[in-house]
Amino acid sequence: MPGTLTFDDLKSHVSEGSIDTVLVCFVDMQGRLMGKRFHAVNFVETSFKETHCCNYLLATDLEMATPDGYAATNWQSGYGDYVMAPDLTTIRHVPWLEGTALVLCDVLDHHTHKPVPHSPRAILKRQIERLEALGFEAKMATELEFFLFEKSFDEIRKEDFRNLDPISGYNEDYHIFQTTKEEGVMRPIRNHLFAAGLPIENTKGEAEAGQEELNIRYSPALDCADYHSIAKHAIKEIAWQHGRAVTFLPKWHKDRVGSSSHVHQSLWIDGEAAFFDETRPHGMSEVMAHYMAGLIKYAPDYTYFLAPYVNSYKRFAKGTFAPTKTVWSVDNRTAGFRLCGENTNGVRVECRIGGSDLNPYLAQAVMLAAGIKGIEDAMELAPATTGDVYEDAKATDIPQTLRAATETLRGSTFLRAALGDDVVDHYTRAAEWEQEEFDRVVTDWEIARGFERA
Ligand code: ADP
Repeated sequence: MPGTLTFDDLKSHVSEGSIDTVLVCFVDMQGRLMGKRFHAVNFVETSFKETHCCNYLLATDLEMATPDGYAATNWQSGYGDYVMAPDLTTIRHVPWLEGTALVLCDVLDHHTHKPVPHSPRAILKRQIERLEALGFEAKMATELEFFLFEKSFDEIRKEDFRNLDPISGYNEDYHIFQTTKEEGVMRPIRNHLFAAGLPIENTKGEAEAGQEELNIRYSPALDCADYHSIAKHAIKEIAWQHGRAVTFLPKWHKDRVGSSSHVHQSLWIDGEAAFFDETRPHGMSEVMAHYMAGLIKYAPDYTYFLAPYVNSYKRFAKGTFAPTKTVWSVDNRTAGFRLCGENTNGVRVECRIGGSDLNPYLAQAVMLAAGIKGIEDAMELAPATTGDVYEDAKATDIPQTLRAATETLRGSTFLRAALGDDVVDHYTRAAEWEQEEFDRVVTDWEIARGFERA
């Protein structure tokens, strides 16, 4: 059971009075928890079956705007309802809020009760089913990086996001002393998430002032995505409770390192590691080689799902540990894909392209789809690259801008076959809209550069 409470447990807590609130949530296109706060008595009596939400919630942007151009949801069709169907295996305590539990929902069509095709959780479930039909289970881990700031979200917003001071004064990569100073926030994050049923491994200081990483033990793909979304939400709430802000923006300052979300991936058959074959180089099975060949070949097609905003592409820079090329290597952090756990049962591939702003359901789904295609077509894996991959002129670049990634997404016959035209068109529109919004803005940089001198 991925949650911490069965439905019967929840009912007992509600009748004892120890739980009075149930957060009924689904994950939107941006990977955020959206939903309603139910009185727990109402939830256990009736709303556990379903509740409803406006269908604009899977066609909005970070600002809750209602962009035009979506076939599924628009003013012409009147913005009707979706069904939010609680997945009762995901009920868990929310230990950082008093008397509160949380449940994740699948999003269904109001009339047919079929999954909404562009709902992130439905997109991932579909690829998991395709993988299961081939006999495999995927296990994944998404390492989540973020920055912790001295001030609170409200103070920072009121100061127009200027003078941002990270909590530390220096690069704290693996530092124990500096991270001790941050335990006021980081310890409750680890402990509350652990008590909420997330298999927390550790947190650590990362390679920049104020930068943190949270590691959650690898898990079946759907659980991994659920954990990621809950953890990201919890980190914001717990930081807020302590008067601090965090950001998952991949690049909040031009001179600071960006934040990523590397995705570790392996396939399993009946509990055995399908990626491991001790007789082959690196202990990499044929299945793993095919899977990686698919991942690498289609990376330009699916980069949008690893880097969904204009800002995401500011992270991809030479010499920063953020990759620019779709090649693989063995334990080398300059390539887009890194083979980890060489010659062990834990041999796996880490995709290093994704930023801390990725939606884990979408990112995992498109990478599974690419791996499945590699396995189905028995694609051959090119030899590993070595050395500084940033300087490898022969290696394929990942799209360098949101505009370029939007076009590879739009034109991807592979993704259209794997996800469906409706889903690709929906997310292509989301990508276009993000660019359109950015293009309308006059930035501080343009003013400072040209005001006097242009
Ligand atoms: P490193 O310190 O080199 O980044 P870790 O040992 O911390 O490596 O592992 C990184 C992530 O990989 C962890 O979240 C871990 O749970 C995950 N992981 C370990 N083994 C596997 C595996 N077989 N498949 C997928 N993820 C894995």
